[in-house]
Amino acid sequence: MDTYASFYQRSIQDRDAFWAEQAELIDWHVKPKQICDYSQPPFANWFVGGQTNVCHNAVDRHVTSRGDQPALIYVSTETGQEVTYTFAQLSDEVQRMAAIMQSLGVKQGDRVLIYLPMIAEAAFAMLACVRIGAIHSVVFGGFASHSLATRIDDASPVLIISADAGSRGGKVVPYKPLLDEAMTLSQHKPSAVLMVDRGLAPFTSLPARDHDYAALRQQHLNARVPCVWLDAAHPSYTLYTSGTTGKPKGVQRDTAGYTVALAASMQHIFQGQPGEVYFSTSDIGWVVGHSYIIYGPLIAGMATLMYEGLPTRPHGGVWWELVEKYQVTHMFSAPTAVRVLKKQDPALLSTYDISSLKALYLAGEPLDEPTAQWIADGLGKPIIDNYWQTETGWPILTVANGVQTMPSKFGSPGVPMYGFNVKLLDDNTGEELTGAQEKGVVVIEGPLPPGCLQTLWGDDERFVKTYWQSVPGRLVYSTFDWGVRDEDGYFYILGRTDDVINVAGHRLGTREIEESISSHPNVAEVAVVGVADALKGQAAMAFVVAKDASALGDAAARLKLEGEIMKLVDSQLGAVARPSRVLFLSLLPKTRSGKLLRRAIQAVCENRDPGDLTTMDDPTPLQQIKEQLV
Ligand code: ATP
Ligand code: MG
Repeated sequence: MDTYASFYQRSIQDRDAFWAEQAELIDWHVKPKQICDYSQPPFANWFVGGQTNVCHNAVDRHVTSRGDQPALIYVSTETGQEVTYTFAQLSDEVQRMAAIMQSLGVKQGDRVLIYLPMIAEAAFAMLACVRIGAIHSVVFGGFASHSLATRIDDASPVLIISADAGSRGGKVVPYKPLLDEAMTLSQHKPSAVLMVDRGLAPFTSLPARDHDYAALRQQHLNARVPCVWLDAAHPSYTLYTSGTTGKPKGVQRDTAGYTVALAASMQHIFQGQPGEVYFSTSDIGWVVGHSYIIYGPLIAGMATLMYEGLPTRPHGGVWWELVEKYQVTHMFSAPTAVRVLKKQDPALLSTYDISSLKALYLAGEPLDEPTAQWIADGLGKPIIDNYWQTETGWPILTVANGVQTMPSKFGSPGVPMYGFNVKLLDDNTGEELTGAQEKGVVVIEGPLPPGCLQTLWGDDERFVKTYWQSVPGRLVYSTFDWGVRDEDGYFYILGRTDDVINVAGHRLGTREIEESISSHPNVAEVAVVGVADALKGQAAMAFVVAKDASALGDAAARLKLEGEIMKLVDSQLGAVARPSRVLFLSLLPKTRSGKLLRRAIQAVCENRDPGDLTTMDDPTPLQQIKEQLV
C-alpha cells in the first residue's frame, strides 16, 4: 500500500497516469483517449474522447448487482413521511421523471431549474436530468423570488420543477407564490413548470404552463428512458455559490471528471462501501447536497439518507435516532449544526446505539476546537474536518484515511488532497511561501483536478478574471481564503482574504480572535469583524451569542462579560487583537446554509447599505446590532 505522501506526489507529478487509474472506478461507454488536455490554461479538459453518464454510474450499474438493496432512504420529520427506495425502484422513478421531462420538451443540453424542498422527487429530478443530458440548476428552496428570478435569468431553463411547499419546524413554507412572483420578475420565461403537490399548501395553476407531477407520473409508470452517453466535457449541472461574499457565481461542472472525482473521493477519503449508509445533513441546494447527498454515495453503491427537518425536532437526538434505525455508517454535517446541538442536552449524544457510525465529517466553515472537542467526546467517533468550495466539488484539504490512516489535528482540516497542488502565496509580493507558520493566500496551481468547475456558466471571462492569476511561469487559482501550514504539512484556514483586519498596521485574522473568544465558558458563538476606525484604520468588533443568556440580565452584567472577554483576548493574543467592543446578540446573522454574513455585519457597523441579503436566514441579529450601536 502507498503512503499518502507518495500517493499525493504521484497525483501531481504523474498526473495523467494517476487519474487514468482513478478513471477505472467508473463505467465508460467509450474510454477516454487523453486524460487531461491543459493546452488552453486555465481551462482543463478531463478525460477527452471518453463518453459516460453520471446517472448510469449512480443508479443503473448498481441495479444488476444490488437492485433490491436500499439506495435512497427518505425521512421527513416535518410530514412524518419515511420511504426507502431500492436501486431498482430508484431507477424506475428516475426513468418516469425523465420521461415526464421529455414530454415537456426537455432535450439534451437544455437547462432544468429545480426549486424544491428536501423531497425524494428532488433526487429523481437531478438524476433524470443527468440521465438525458439536461443540465440541472438546483436553487435552494429557501431563496425568495428575487434571488430565484436572477437565477432563472442566468440559467434560462426550459422547465422548472417545484412544489407547493416546504416545511420547517412544523411551519408550512409555500413555494409556489414565490415561484410565480419570480417568473413575473424574470426576463426569461420558461415554457413549463412541473409541480409536485405535497398537499401542504393550496396553489393556483396556470393551465397552459403548470403541470401536475402525480398525474404525469401515472401516464409514464412503465417508462424506459435509456441513459444518453455524453461526451466527457458535457455539462452535468450548474450551481450557484452560497453568496457569502457577493454576487453568486454559476459554477459549471462536467460529466466524466465529476463522476471520476466523486468515485475516487468515496474510496480514498470516505472509504464508503456498497451496502453502507451515508447521511449528509446538508440540503440539495448546496454543493455538499450535490456531491454527498446525491451523487457520491450512490456512485459508490451506498444508500443515501435524505432528511427533511431540523436537528432538534421532534427532539434533540433525532439524528442519532436515525443513525441507529438505519445503521448509518458515514455522517456529513457542518460546524454550525453542531453548535445548534451544543445547546441541547449532551446526554442525547449517548441515548441511541450509534455503533454503526464510523466517522462524522464536517465542512463549510472553520471548525473551532471547543466545538470539535465537544462532539468528539460526546459521540466517541472520529471527527473529520474537510475544507472545500462549491467551485471544487470535493475536498481540497482533509485526511485521506482510505490511502493511509492519518491523525486529524483539531483546528486543521488536514493536508492537500491528491490532485490539488495547494500553495500559499504572500499576498503582497505574490511569492510562494514554503516555510512552516508563514501566513498566505491559499491557491491551487492549475490544472484543477477532475470534478472542479469547468468555468462559470456563460461567462468564461468572469471565470478567468475572478479566480486566476499568474505567478511567474504558471497560473494559480485563488480560493480567497487565508491560511498557514505547520511543520507536518497540515493547513489551517485563517479566514477569507477579505476577513483579514488591519489594526494600526497589524494584520490579524478574525478567526484567531474568534478562537480566543470562544474559549470563554459563557460564549456559545462569536463573530469578529473589522470595522472602519478613524484612529486605527480598522478595529475588531466582536458579536457574541452567550450560552447562558440569563448572565446578561442588565447593563452591568453585560459590561462584566465584555470585560472578561477583552481580558481573555489580551492574555491569549495581545492587546492589539482586543476587540474595541463586544455586542451580545441572540443569534448571529447567517446565510441559510449557516455561513456567517460578515460583510453584512460590517456594513451595518459602518452605516452602509448591507446589500443583497436574500440569502440571509433571519434579520433579527442585524436589527439587534443597529439598536446597540446607537
Ligand atoms: P461565495 O463564494 O458566493 O461568497 P461561499 O464562499 O460561502 O460563498 P461556498 O463555496 O459554499 O460558498 O463556501 C466555501 C468557503 O467556505 C471556503 O472558501 C471557506 O471560506 C469556507 N470553508 C469551507 N469549509 C471550510 C473548513 N473546513 N474550514 C474553514 N473554512 C471552510
Ligand atoms: Mg466562495
